Amino acid sequence: MGGRPDAAVVGTLINFARGPVRRAASPNACECQPMITLALSKGRIFEETLPLLKAAGIEVLDNPETSRKLILATNSPEVQVVLVRASDVPTYVQYGGADLGVAGRDVLIEHGLDGMYQPLDLNIARCRMSVAVRDDFDYAAAIKQGSRIRVATKYTQIARQHFSDKGVHVDLIKLYGSMELAPLTGLADAIVDLVSTGNTLKANHLVEVEKVMEISSRLVVNQAALKLKREPLRRMIDAFASATPK
Ligand code: AMP
Repeated sequence: MGGRPDAAVVGTLINFARGPVRRAASPNACECQPMITLALSKGRIFEETLPLLKAAGIEVLDNPETSRKLILATNSPEVQVVLVRASDVPTYVQYGGADLGVAGRDVLIEHGLDGMYQPLDLNIARCRMSVAVRDDFDYAAAIKQGSRIRVATKYTQIARQHFSDKGVHVDLIKLYGSMELAPLTGLADAIVDLVSTGNTLKANHLVEVEKVMEISSRLVVNQAALKLKREPLRRMIDAFASATPK
C-alpha cells in the first residue's frame, strides 16, 4: 500500500520536509509557516496513514506504541500529530483542536460533518458494517413477521437509518464496546458492528446476516483552517490524494 511516491508527490515531499520557514524581518512579526495539526487514532488508522504522510514528506518521530506522548513531532517543524480516540477525531477537527484528521466513515456518519470538509476517501482501514445474530437465531423469519427486534450497537444513527430503510421495527440499545456479548446474553436479538475478518463473530457463535455499508477512513479538514492555512493544507491534501491506495 502506498508504494513509491511518483514525481509529483516527491515534489510535495521536498516542499514539506525542507520547505522554507519564512522568518520575519522584525522579531515581533512572525511570518513563519502556520503549524498544521493532524488528529489520528492509534492502531490501524495511524499505521495506514503513515505511508500517506511519507508521500507528503512527513515522518512521525515518535512511536505511539512505545511512547506515552499525545503530541507527536514530525520531521517537519510545521506539522504535528495529536493522538485521540477514533470517535473524538471529528470533534477535534470540527472545533479546530486539529486542522485535519483521519476518521472512519462510521465515526463521521455518527458525528456529522458540521464545520468540516471531507475531501478524500483514503481507502484505508477498510472493513464493513454488518448486522449479526446468534447462529441459531432465524433473522429472516424475525424481520418478516414484522415484530420488533432488539438491536445493540455503538452506531445508533447508522443502525436506525438501515432498519428504517428496510421498514423493520427495532428497539436500539446503545453500547460502547463488546457488542458481540449482547445476543449471547439475551440483551439483544442482533448487533450492528464493524466486521473485518469475521473472526470475532465466529469465535462468539455469531453470523453476519446483512451488510449495512462498506467502511473506509476519510480525511476531514476544518473549514476555517482551510481558509487560513490554505497553501500547506492544500499541499498535504494533494499529496494524500496522489498516494491514496486505489
Ligand atoms: P474481525 O474479527 O477481524 O472481523 O474484527 C472485528 C472486531 O474488530 C470488532 O470488534 C470490530 O468492532 C473491530 N473492528 C474491525 N474493523 C475495524 C475498524 N476498521 N475500525 C475499528 N474497529 C474495527
